[in-house]
Amino acid sequence: MRNYEDTYQHKGLRRQLVNQLKEKGITDENVLEAINTIPRHYFLDSAFDKIAYEDRAFPIGEGQTISQPYTVAYQSQLLQIKKNDKVLEIGTGSIYQATVLAELGARVFTIERQKKLFDQQKNYYFKGKYPNIKFFFGDGFEGLPTFGPFDKIIITAAAPFIPPKLIAQLKPGGFMVIPVDEADTQRMLRITKQEDGTIKEEAFEQFSFVPMLTGKNR
Ligand code: SAH
Repeated sequence: MRNYEDTYQHKGLRRQLVNQLKEKGITDENVLEAINTIPRHYFLDSAFDKIAYEDRAFPIGEGQTISQPYTVAYQSQLLQIKKNDKVLEIGTGSIYQATVLAELGARVFTIERQKKLFDQQKNYYFKGKYPNIKFFFGDGFEGLPTFGPFDKIIITAAAPFIPPKLIAQLKPGGFMVIPVDEADTQRMLRITKQEDGTIKEEAFEQFSFVPMLTGKNR
């Protein structure tokens, strides 16, 4: 059950969350505004209504989670989204991160490997508002070769390694934001595919994601 009512209380809690994200070091005004605009409680069961604006991950079924707002903001900021950027997201989950990217003006192509989570896109509340999100059921390690290349790629699960097929689907000058490691926490990396095809790697903070798994799960 979802509660699609956005009360003054929700809006107030959302503003407090945005202030917390600023205190934690998020500076991109567009990202902060997108988080202030999108009702995160719409992406969670109504049981989470009162706590939806805490800076925490929450369960969304199938053993998966909606990412912590700080993590969503951090990855979105590293992506430096420009209007009409073609963005591939691995791990649709609750659709919250995809919605933030769509609000920033990206054309979002998002892949989910869990059938039950993928099927939720049929009831996506913002279908009309964000026609710029396209949903795919598949294995993110494969990417979307027929839709690429992409300006940006974001992986929202812990990758055991940098998937070579995703590097291949990145435009020259484009970049990928990806948490990498098989341990409990992962280092956030930004991989830039330079104009000459070589790869530049920048390392950022540690985060904790659910694992990126191979294959599809019906
Ligand atoms: N971006 C999501 C985060 C969901 S958690 C959100 O905003 O809610 C990570 C998601 O990645 C899970 O739904 C999981 O099923 C999915 N996932 C894991 N490995 C994957 C893969 N190889 N391909 C596609 N999705 C994958």
